[in-house]
Amino acid sequence: MIQGVIFDLDGTIYRGSQAVPGAAEFVAKLAERGIKVFFVTNRSNRTPESVCTQLRSYGISCTAENILTSAQATARHLRSGSVFFIGEEGLERALLEAGLTMDPQSPDYVVVGFDRAVNYTKIEKASRLIRAGARFIATNPDKAINADGGISPGNGAIVAAIATASGVSPVVVGKPERAIIDIALERMGLTPEHVVLVGDNLETDIKAGINAGIRTVLILTGVSTRKDVLESSVKPHRVVEDYEDLAHVVFDTLETAWQETSTDNTTILPTPQQGSHFTSGKEYPDCPRLAVGAVVIHEGRVLLVKRGKPPAEGLWAIPGGSVELGETLQTAAEREILEETGIKIKAGDPVYTFDAIQKDGDGRVRFHYVIVDLLADYLEGDPKAGDDAHDVRWVHPSELDRMNVSRKTIELLRNLRMGRAE
Ligand SMILES: [Mg+2]
Repeated sequence: MIQGVIFDLDGTIYRGSQAVPGAAEFVAKLAERGIKVFFVTNRSNRTPESVCTQLRSYGISCTAENILTSAQATARHLRSGSVFFIGEEGLERALLEAGLTMDPQSPDYVVVGFDRAVNYTKIEKASRLIRAGARFIATNPDKAINADGGISPGNGAIVAAIATASGVSPVVVGKPERAIIDIALERMGLTPEHVVLVGDNLETDIKAGINAGIRTVLILTGVSTRKDVLESSVKPHRVVEDYEDLAHVVFDTLETAWQETSTDNTTILPTPQQGSHFTSGKEYPDCPRLAVGAVVIHEGRVLLVKRGKPPAEGLWAIPGGSVELGETLQTAAEREILEETGIKIKAGDPVYTFDAIQKDGDGRVRFHYVIVDLLADYLEGDPKAGDDAHDVRWVHPSELDRMNVSRKTIELLRNLRMGRAE
């Protein structure tokens, strides 16, 4: 169950001085449902209060308590000691509020944040202090920022100058490092499995979410594109075009899709009660079971089934089923796909394998399948839901993001370059 959403700001909530369409309405809907909202920004120069004022101007209700800047995260990360810093008001206030002291002569730390008044003297001073032994801390590594007039140098450019001059690489606190997300979770009072991060940048937002062990949604309203997703090794759990899509993902899939999107393939289920629907005899098996899936692509569309059984009920996925004793993977796939979908196939080689493990609240394994997906050729037949399926369809890649598709299926299709939208 999602209990909180962490948003990036620039490119996600606003672009330059304009709000991203739908952002305010979406944030309001989350609040209505009692889902905690939190904003995390790598920008270190602004105070939470000034960020709040901007958000309120878009109709987004907020308090300084649900905003975390990289300046605050840096101050929290350092905890105590003396500092020389390069930065603006937001960083200075965050450092002082956290109880750090200013020492321009022999500080413990040189902290570098975004500073529009940076100059040669400041870079020289910082470099000399670092060479003399002060620890080099960067609030964030962003190379560039979006400004109303176009792209402007970000803090990464200032940090790079000092790293070059001092010969020392900084410790980075902001995204993509997990420290800033860990601090956000602590302030929200939530654990990673109950929180989703929404951001526009694969290399900072999504990477930070993955590093912190939380689920991520890339929203295509800012810097990263669908092409970047295909080419990058950083894979978000979901990709959405806009807030309308995001609402579908978050509100329609709360109980199903997200359950199986934990990053280690393990899902925690409630311990079975008498009369629950988990009384099929599958709970507490004594060994893993083998299952097979089939990727059937026909005229540019892939065959998907809408699962009919909990806990993945309502989730679209590659069709498949159990391998019975004496069957090969191929004969099992051909039999299962015919029973489940009415489609006759010729099964080929494995293209993907994964474990699906579900444990109950006591940590006992209720369900463990080793699943092997095979590439298969379509032979004949029309899709017709059989067995445990609610529905069966040929799905065009451009439809995937709008459907409630299992993360493993998305991953698999991306690997096969099927996830491309047109
Ligand atoms: Mg952003």
